[in-house]
Amino acid sequence: MRKQIAAANWKMNLKYDEAKNLLSELKNCSTENSNAEVILAVPFPYLLTAQEILKSNSSIQVAAQNCSQHVQGAYTGEVSAGMLSSCGIKYVIIGHSERRELFNEDDKIISQKIDQAIGNAVQPIFCCGEPLAIRENNEEAGYVEKQLQQGLFHLAPEKLEGFIIAYEPIWAIGTGKTASAEEAQSMHLHIRKVMAERYGEKIAGSISILYGGSVKASNAKEIFGQPDVDGGLVGGASLIAADFEAIVGSLK
Ligand code: PEP
Repeated sequence: MRKQIAAANWKMNLKYDEAKNLLSELKNCSTENSNAEVILAVPFPYLLTAQEILKSNSSIQVAAQNCSQHVQGAYTGEVSAGMLSSCGIKYVIIGHSERRELFNEDDKIISQKIDQAIGNAVQPIFCCGEPLAIRENNEEAGYVEKQLQQGLFHLAPEKLEGFIIAYEPIWAIGTGKTASAEEAQSMHLHIRKVMAERYGEKIAGSISILYGGSVKASNAKEIFGQPDVDGGLVGGASLIAADFEAIVGSLK
């Protein structure tokens, strides 16, 4: 049975003291569902502190928000997947639309980052999703399919077992505009179909596909209730403990 996941993406928010407060508030955050997992993607300088504060809660994992496509060396300011792994980090967000748009990460770079993460036993949370203009032209299915092909299709089947994909329509990120539950389900079903065509039904069925884009305490239950939505990647609402806890409580 694939995992149900609530993942927080703090982005570049919170000073150290504020981060420690939020981590302490979330320390006992749990779900009754033994198949559910909570992941907090915090800024790099807070990774080890987050691990320390959360170590007594085995259902919360700490994630990085990015890693380098390079192995090591003269890449000032970069953090490698090997470094994350050596710090005990097990998850990393790769291909977030903000990285694609603001830092010019193309599909090739993203696929290299995926390889670095997997090669260092760090599970990627692979993000895909279309901009508004593509949605308005009804071209979102093909657009996302291409992102999956370019980012993941070079991987051997065993690497996709229990993988995590986040579908995040760009027009819904940080805008307060959420895809309807039906729109989310329709794209998640498409993503699972695309993965099944390449890797077979069993592997496609093991992949957790998270929805991201203005998930809130008030809409999480309906969106997560869709058969192919296995939780969410949450930005803004993950910075308020009570809101994020309510989102965790909305997992199937
Ligand atoms: C995100 O950045 O991954 C995200 C989904 O942000 P928000 O929830 O704020 O739309």
